Amino acid sequence: MNTQRLPDEFKNMTDVEAVEKVRHIKRQLGSDLLILGHHYQSDAVIDIADQRGDSLELARKAAKTDARLILFAGVHFMAETADILTGPSQKVILPDAEAGCPMADMASVDEVADAWLQLSEIFDVESELLPVTYVNSSAALKAFCGDHGGTVCTSSNAGQIVAWALQQRRRLLFMPDRHLGGNIAKMAGLGDSETILWRPYQPYGDNELDAVRNAKVILWQGHCPVHDRFAVEQVIQARKSFPDTKVLVHLECSKEVVAATDGAGSTSWLINQISKASPGDSFTIGTEISLVERLARQNPHLKIRPLLLSRCPNMYKTSVQDIAWVLSKPGEINVISVSEEIRDSAYKALKIMLDLSA
Ligand code: SF4
Repeated sequence: MNTQRLPDEFKNMTDVEAVEKVRHIKRQLGSDLLILGHHYQSDAVIDIADQRGDSLELARKAAKTDARLILFAGVHFMAETADILTGPSQKVILPDAEAGCPMADMASVDEVADAWLQLSEIFDVESELLPVTYVNSSAALKAFCGDHGGTVCTSSNAGQIVAWALQQRRRLLFMPDRHLGGNIAKMAGLGDSETILWRPYQPYGDNELDAVRNAKVILWQGHCPVHDRFAVEQVIQARKSFPDTKVLVHLECSKEVVAATDGAGSTSWLINQISKASPGDSFTIGTEISLVERLARQNPHLKIRPLLLSRCPNMYKTSVQDIAWVLSKPGEINVISVSEEIRDSAYKALKIMLDLSA
């Protein structure tokens, strides 16, 4: 990727100037440009996006568009996914090249390959174990899954994908989010004794050999630092302070937090719960703060509060100035391009997910 730093000319622009520049370029490029914005982006960025959504919705939009340029206001793995799903004549741009995802970085393909090798000494991995990675992962890890018959999931379709995976093979290796995987395994009726946590580069992932032999779900030891900050005590406190409140959280929160709340789901699920509420209903929401603040602003007839102010610094990196800059030379700055060696295998894994959740 050819990454460059934001020049002073753009850094010094006001938001109004940057937005005006972006709108001008959008008018010039017309249908050649599609701006996708993840729900966790700031309001200023969301306002200039053509489409907003969660990871699954935006992956679908990327797969369908004919636009020559797709600007992804999100983090690196999202732009990679869009690049895998688009054609060779289309380019995907990430406005801030340093907007990564710490959770995606918690499962490198080398660590996973080591785990696969260790597990292959215990059972026949190719016939018994299906690798599934949360979309919040590198393209290389998606390719690993594709090479071993596995797939990808998002928080919206994780239940469906896990059920499918366990129909294909006896066991599942779920990466990188231990919480999403653990919550879904629990919802699928799997007990604690059927689930183990795999710590990379430890013998048997730091488990007893028998525990690995008996495991149906092997959870990778990764987590989202933004959602890991939510705690059971905060739920108890919210209920004390606002007895009529419903506490809803994202599935990237721990099992203990989820168990203490009134419900948990994907970003789209949370938005959907709010859209169905009646005037005066009270919600305390545990997810990325940009989304909670937007929901509160857009629904003044409801009482919406955050469980905790937890912001994703990576999602927040993208500014309207970055967008004005990368669009000033369309297709030349911060183009994300997944290498040929991994593209086909990663596509195979993503295609299974898109077909299953169509
Ligand atoms: S909110 Fe969590 S999972 Fe999403 S990009 Fe930020 S660190 Fe990654």
